[in-house]
Amino acid sequence: MQQSHIKSEIRNWTRLELRQWLEKQSEQDSKIQPYRADQIFYWLYRRKVKDFSEMANIGKPTRNLLEKHFRIGTLKRDQVQRSRDGSLKYRLMLEDDKAVETVLMPHADHHTVCISSQVGCGMGCDFCMTGKMGLIRNLEVSEIVNQVLEAWQDLPEGANLRNIVFMGMGEPFHNYQNVMRALEIFTDVHGFNYSHRRITVSTSGLIPKIRRFGKEQIKANLAVSLNGVNDSVRSALMPVNKAYNLEKLVQACREYPLESRKRITFEYILIRNLTDSLEDAKGLIRLLHGVKFKVNLIPFNETPGGPYQRPEWPSIDAFQQYLLDRGVLATLRISKGQDIAGACGQLVVQETVPA
Ligand code: SF4
Repeated sequence: MQQSHIKSEIRNWTRLELRQWLEKQSEQDSKIQPYRADQIFYWLYRRKVKDFSEMANIGKPTRNLLEKHFRIGTLKRDQVQRSRDGSLKYRLMLEDDKAVETVLMPHADHHTVCISSQVGCGMGCDFCMTGKMGLIRNLEVSEIVNQVLEAWQDLPEGANLRNIVFMGMGEPFHNYQNVMRALEIFTDVHGFNYSHRRITVSTSGLIPKIRRFGKEQIKANLAVSLNGVNDSVRSALMPVNKAYNLEKLVQACREYPLESRKRITFEYILIRNLTDSLEDAKGLIRLLHGVKFKVNLIPFNETPGGPYQRPEWPSIDAFQQYLLDRGVLATLRISKGQDIAGACGQLVVQETVPA
């Protein structure tokens, strides 16, 4: 990573990069010790400090050096909305006055944070409010990581932030490099120290990136947004299907190298009279033959003026039961935060407010 006269955001750096940079600095100053990178990560991600002066066991020469070259940035809260179900939706301002949304969701014994990887999204899924924004820009590594730190501050005493899911704004595989670097920081033993089993990356189905992700060292969970069991329905809902159709997508999933006990999650939005029939359920089983998978059913969250409706509950239940009866692991996700538009496909920044 290149240095310039502008201070670099330290949370854009992986520990290995920081260590290599310190190694270089130690050639000029023997008081600089490269192994301090481990401790710096501890302070940044375990203690979550906001200033280098708080890094108590880092010697003055190294602290001064850090202060000279780096800064510890944070995201500015513009708005926090609390849902009736306890979810918190954050609208967080970036330095260029763009905004992203992040959702912290409580469960019975843990919390999940849903983070964004882009401002807006270029995939144009027809059911998705974020897709209507178009792609504005990719997020920096620090902007991804700082969303988790921001949500962390609101965890109830002793609560556990167990899962990180890349299901907020954006197609994570369109910002591949930065998402991978964020995963490196999330799973770093000296950093957040998350198990890769607790992190899920959800894609709309970019096959070359699915294949590449399968070869990465960090084996985070893969989720694929499916939402249709034939090409005509899926292409109407998700333009990505025109480039990577269902046959190719499912083939890539069959070939995806899964660790034992892991499965690919297919997210399937139930839309009234479009994706919710028992014929669709049957088609789903047929389509995914040969893939180790589970299905996450998401009843559509209606948006004002949108063309799609949520099915009635009996249809939702019947769809799930059809899958369960045939041995398919099918969970029903009742999206959290619906009353604050924090649910799947509803994240959208309405306007950008100057800082
Ligand atoms: S569903 Fe995901 S991939 Fe599709 S437009 Fe929305 S954010 Fe982008």
